[in-house]
Amino acid sequence: MSDVSDLRNDDAVYRTLLESTKAIPWKIDWATKKFAYIGPQIEALLGWSPESWMTVEDWAMRMHPEDREYVVNFCVAQSQAGIDHEADYRALTKDNGYVWLRDVVHVVRKDNGEPEALIGFMFDISERKKTEEKLLVLQKELEALSFKDGLTNIANRRRFDASLEVEWESARSAGQPLSILLFDIDFFKQYNDLYGHVRGDNALIEIAQTLSLALDGPRDLVARFGGEEFVVLLPQADASVALKVAERCQRLIQKQAITHAHSPLDQRITVSIGVGTVTPGAHMKPSSFIEAVDQQLYAAKKNGRNRIETVQVAP
Ligand code: GH3
Ligand code: MG
Ligand code: MG
Repeated sequence: MSDVSDLRNDDAVYRTLLESTKAIPWKIDWATKKFAYIGPQIEALLGWSPESWMTVEDWAMRMHPEDREYVVNFCVAQSQAGIDHEADYRALTKDNGYVWLRDVVHVVRKDNGEPEALIGFMFDISERKKTEEKLLVLQKELEALSFKDGLTNIANRRRFDASLEVEWESARSAGQPLSILLFDIDFFKQYNDLYGHVRGDNALIEIAQTLSLALDGPRDLVARFGGEEFVVLLPQADASVALKVAERCQRLIQKQAITHAHSPLDQRITVSIGVGTVTPGAHMKPSSFIEAVDQQLYAAKKNGRNRIETVQVAP
């Protein structure tokens, strides 16, 4: 029976082991920078025969140009320092494709610490890279979705809250005003009752689009605030700018003329708008500002709907 020491001496067994794994073993002599060995599996993976791997130059040249400089510099520096290391890169195939490899490198050192040889394994990590790339795309999509309203495709409440927090801080530190417009569709319950929810949804989409068109500031934001309520955030806008934007929105919705036979207001969809402007002080919270603007919206409803009420909130 053979024991471990027999096995250790058995070159043929080692060779069989090395050449039957999926990982590709190799050895480079440090003094000459020549390949002393590379597993025959390399040919199946990249198409280049083992004999064609002569020097580190061949290794470097069969690397994606975008990866080459960084990977070569990194591996040379690590090897010189005698540090085991690994690097991911795209290896060129004989038919001009690329395969993602992970090269795991052990530095064999002489007694004086200088490198004598490098031995390593190349692993095919193309599947893993593909999965990583797919995950990255999905993650980006998810991030975008989590800030978007599913029905109207404009920003959602979460996005509005996040933007308001940032703009609030920026307005506070710059001592600049900031304005908010709160919209609520008039008699929308009757609209749904008369035309059904699907047309109700379409009306919400159309109004969201119209509000988007009414804005022109690079940091202006329109978001769905709740069911049939929208909000516009106008950074750096004082009360007169805010009122102008509110009037423009009202005018555009009027022009859009979505029929609402059960509305006493011209048989069209109209909106009530609460407008507020503030130069945020040190102790004021965004939520109490929104509260004040919401009261204006309530006043607009109470005073007859299809109208704008404004407030300037003291800091
Ligand atoms: P007011 O003029 O006082 O605002 O009356 P209103 O009927 O618009 O107000 P109310 O709050 O009583 O009703 C809002 C309606 O908006 C109720 C709900 O059916 C509708 N609504 C909210 N979200 C959606 C939605 O996503 N799709 C549709 N189709 N309707 C919605
Ligand atoms: Mg409402
Ligand atoms: Mg309403």
